[in-house]
Parts: sequence; structure tokens; C-alpha cells
Amino acid sequence: MKWKQQIYGMKAYQPGKPMEEVKKEFGLDEVVKLASNENPYGFSPKVKAFLNNEETNHAIYPDGYAQNLRTAVANHLGVKETQLLFGNGSDDIIAIITRALLYPGVNTVMATPSFSQYSHNAEIEGAEVRKVPLQNGKHDLKAMLEAINESTSVVWVCNPNNPTGTIVDHNELEIFLKSVPSDVLVVLDEAYFEYVDSTEYKDSIGFINEYSNVIILRTFSKAYGLASFRVGYAIANEEVIAKLDPVRAPFNNTILSHKVAIVALEDQEFIHSCKEKNKNGKKQFVHFCEKHGLHYYPTQTNFILFEVKADSDVVFHEMMKRGFIIRSGNALDAPGYIRVTIGTEEQNEKFLSLLEEVL
Ligand code: PMP
Repeated sequence: MKWKQQIYGMKAYQPGKPMEEVKKEFGLDEVVKLASNENPYGFSPKVKAFLNNEETNHAIYPDGYAQNLRTAVANHLGVKETQLLFGNGSDDIIAIITRALLYPGVNTVMATPSFSQYSHNAEIEGAEVRKVPLQNGKHDLKAMLEAINESTSVVWVCNPNNPTGTIVDHNELEIFLKSVPSDVLVVLDEAYFEYVDSTEYKDSIGFINEYSNVIILRTFSKAYGLASFRVGYAIANEEVIAKLDPVRAPFNNTILSHKVAIVALEDQEFIHSCKEKNKNGKKQFVHFCEKHGLHYYPTQTNFILFEVKADSDVVFHEMMKRGFIIRSGNALDAPGYIRVTIGTEEQNEKFLSLLEEVL
């Protein structure tokens, strides 16, 4: 068959073993997954109540334009409905962006380590991937700017960055955006937006009116606790959205996912309480790292990347045997480190006491 050349040698994205498999393999009754930065508190009780009583007709196609969810998100953010694009998770939006803008002969600029789907999708499209190392765990925006040339089509700023959890603040971003050529799309991936508590950080939505080449990605998968429903969205200038929309699959969410996201959006109290609990959870990890002299990155998210002074894969396996699935830094371009989702207070306590045994 006439496969794209770049497909050869590529591996499917495999974000760790399923919990059931780990239970079976290690004979465990309980496994805690702290590997994919889901919300350890689940989703809003209002969503639960809604799901208990809902009677969706799943035999019909969903509204491809996601009108009801669109109205809810537009009102919530104070943007126009035409400034939004919905995806099957923000993964889908990343794929839509790369399909629309990347092809052989153009390049795309991103940080490393950063979220793997940017380079994965860019490679599928045959574009050149330009990876710029983080500096002290943060995006090196100056070096990223230098990496941009006339063939650059898309620049990715994961903010806060996965896997470091670090953030580029508003002023730094503003300086960067002023210098990026206006025909280069700048993607601000804010999957962890709801967890940010830096005082240096201001809401980036205003950028879309100032800069026609900015697109912001957000998701219901993290703080909203709806990863399985697969709802992500993009906010950008109307012309950018109109160009991307034809690339989107026609029914890329489900009727139920639309409904559930609307209910979740209405419960900001839940988001606030998760953010507060996450702040306390972060302190448990920071305390552990400081006690053991382990380097960690100051995180603005619900995960933390820290040094283990050991082979990350070994630590990953030892923790899996003990019932905790985490991410080895080797899989994240961060050898010698592990990335752990901040769990509930109890999960963190148990995890850290077991980790103490392993290190
Ligand atoms: N962006 C970042 C930075 C992420 O960490 C993730 C999830 N791992 C995503 C996007 C994709 O999330 P989803 O497709 O569930 O919205």
C-alpha cells in the first residue's frame, strides 16, 4: 500500500497500562492511577445527579455544531459563539490544527519536554518538528522565536507545560506574541488552566482579540473530571475558527457529552474546591521532595515532575507493583524524574510513604 513515508516506524500513542491489567499482573485488589492527570475527586455531584436521571436517545446523531454547549461556553467565557471550536477532547483539536496547517516543507516549533501529541501529529503530517529545550523547566520563548523562520506554520506553547507544570506568565507571553509573525499560528494549550494559581498569570482570552494568530485550547478532561466524555475546545478569532471547522469530523462529540459538559460548567464551586484541595496535595509532594533533597518543578497543575535520583523506569515499575501507576520520566524526555498526578490527601500520603521505601 502507499502509506505516507513518515508512518513507517511510528508507534501508536500508548499512555500506560490499563488499571485492570495492572491489577491482574501484580495480583492487586486496588490500583490507583496517578499517570494521566485526571481529577482524583471525579466530577461534580451535579453531573452525577444528572446522569442518574438522564434519558438521551443515543440512536440519533448529535448536533455537530454543539449549539447548546457552544452557548454555555461562550457565556461562561464572555466570547462569541463563532470564536469556539469543539473537539473530541483537545487531542482532536490538536489533530485538526496539524491537519489544517502542517504538511511536508513547513515546520512547527515547540518546547521539549512538552505534550507529546504536538510532535506526534506533526510527524504524521510530514512537517519538520523543531524542538526547543526548556530552560529551568520553562519555555525558552526567546529561543523559540529564533527557531521560527519563513517556513514555520504553527508554534505550540503548553501553558502550564506538561510534564513540568511550569507556566509562562502573561507579560512574557505578550512580548512573545508581539514578535511572532502574524501568519504563524500560536497555540496556547491551557489544558490545566483551572488549576493555575500564579498571581503573575492573567486570563489569556483577551489575546484572541489582540492577536489574530492566537488559539487557546481548553478541556473538560482535567479539573472538570470528564476525561472519558472527550470534550475539549478551542477559542480563537472567528476567521481562524472558520478555517479549522471544515477539517473537523462532523459529529465529533456525543449528545451526552454535550449535556454533561453544560452541567459541569454550571458547578464552578466544584472546580474551586478541587483547586483548593489540589493546592494542599501539592504541598505534600513539595514537602517530600524538600525532605529528601529531590529537585522538583514548581507546578501550576494537578501533577508534579520530580527527581528520583534513580532510574525512572525502575521507580515506575516498583510503584506499579505497589499499586500506583505513574509516569516514568524516560517516557517524557525527562530521565531521572517521575511525573505524578496529585491525588487525594490519602492517596498522596500512601504513595509517598511507598515511594520512600523504593528510593
Ligand atoms: N494538552 C495537554 C497539555 C494535556 O496534558 C492533555 C491530556 N494529557 C491534552 C491536551 C489532551 O486532553 P484531552 O484530549 O483529554 O482534552
